[in-house]
Amino acid sequence: MAAAIKRKGARAAAHTAEEPPFKKILVANRGEIALRVILACKELGIQTVAVYSEADRNALHVRFADEEVCIGPAPSSRSYLNIPQVIAAAEVTGAEAIHPGYGFLSENPHFVEVCTACGINFIGPNAEIIRRMGNKAEAKATMQAAGIPQMPGSDGLVHTVEDALATAERIGYPVIVKASAGGGGRGMRICNTPEELPDLYGTARSEAKGAFGDDSVYMEKYLLEPRHIEVQILGDLFGNVVHLGERECSIQRRHQKLIEESPSAALSPDLRKRICETAVKAARAVGYYNAGTIEFLLDKRGDFYFMEMNTRVQVEHPVTELVTGIDIVKEQLRVAAGRRLSFTQDQVIQRGHAIECRINAEDPFKFTPSPGRITALNFPGGPGIRVDSAMHQDATIPPHYDSMIAKLIAFGADRTEAIARMRRALDTLVVEGVKTTAPLHRRMLDHADFISGAFSTKWLEGAMESLKQPGGTGG
Ligand code: ADP
Repeated sequence: MAAAIKRKGARAAAHTAEEPPFKKILVANRGEIALRVILACKELGIQTVAVYSEADRNALHVRFADEEVCIGPAPSSRSYLNIPQVIAAAEVTGAEAIHPGYGFLSENPHFVEVCTACGINFIGPNAEIIRRMGNKAEAKATMQAAGIPQMPGSDGLVHTVEDALATAERIGYPVIVKASAGGGGRGMRICNTPEELPDLYGTARSEAKGAFGDDSVYMEKYLLEPRHIEVQILGDLFGNVVHLGERECSIQRRHQKLIEESPSAALSPDLRKRICETAVKAARAVGYYNAGTIEFLLDKRGDFYFMEMNTRVQVEHPVTELVTGIDIVKEQLRVAAGRRLSFTQDQVIQRGHAIECRINAEDPFKFTPSPGRITALNFPGGPGIRVDSAMHQDATIPPHYDSMIAKLIAFGADRTEAIARMRRALDTLVVEGVKTTAPLHRRMLDHADFISGAFSTKWLEGAMESLKQPGGTGG
């Protein structure tokens, strides 16, 4: 059962023009995203319940929520992923709805069904949509049927090595073997020749089995230097679906994003229109509602292909918020309560430029984790800087969860100003006690390729050696 609940003192009445969409919600997450949701609730006059593991007792999301419930020991499987504990915490506090954030239970269709069965509103799309989009092979088949452009690849799952060899022969090398249940860049193998395919096919399956408990894989043509472009979608229960423009997420390491921006320097107005309209068509094809993201790969010829759909709020959502002025989390809460989106497609205007750097507690050039205690901390401020973080001085970064400790987001009238502001923000960021990726970000922002916008998802891998040298910024 849920452990002790602590109720905080009376809250000041919220000064919002609109009736709060909910009276009280539970936030089933931790870290910066839990805090982000709590802040949106404060603005809307919604009371919040934080859940936390024993390792997060002193976390800021716990401090700033109205109520708090400890749901178990540090390992996620026994706390943030423990469905009975999360549901019990919601029931005992009388929360009407649960916001899942990203990661943890956010894309777990079973959790959505349990919420529904218990009369708790899940702030996201329904279980069926999450299930269909969570299985990547099925998502691709659905999108193919809807006429959304697809990368050449296998027809559904690839069951045997013979199947894999025949598929690769048909689409041409290089190919990528991907876990159908995949996420976070895991369960993927790139293969250049028929000789290496049997082994790589086998390791992709066993890694998928280990990471996701499901060894089904599919195959795609592997694009050599694509850009990762994704489109933010919002939908309501009245069938309104809009896009909030694109995000450029090509600066990656091992298929994990490090820098995101909006707009993308790679899109002409015409291409932007086509990719965003395609994303809306894809979302409509599955009757999508709440916040979601359609991810595409863009090749050098300007052709783009559906990659996957994420059925939750994305880590990098702030860049879209800064260029559109739309609060994505507040809209999630509104539409979950059965309200209409508060704007139409015509009212969405991308203005200026925003860049986000993910600051991880890691050695910046070796990428090894650096958990520990933060002994000194200064977050940057000043014009155009937003920091989404739940860190504070003396905070201990537990080794149990992901290593992201802050997102620095810079807004400028144009890309040049956004870059200048981000450099200044990184120069005034102080984190002592643990190593962070900030020095790597600082060097990337000085690199000629980053400044010119000429990069692909492969860029960082190639530039890493020069970035390790002080002043190695591509000349
Ligand atoms: P995950 O869900 O694990 O994040 P994705 O399917 O979103 O996996 O892919 C993550 C990244 O992997 C992409 O942003 C891209 O860099 C790379 N990638 C995936 N599929 C391909 C492909 N067919 N060709 C080239 N790169 C790819």
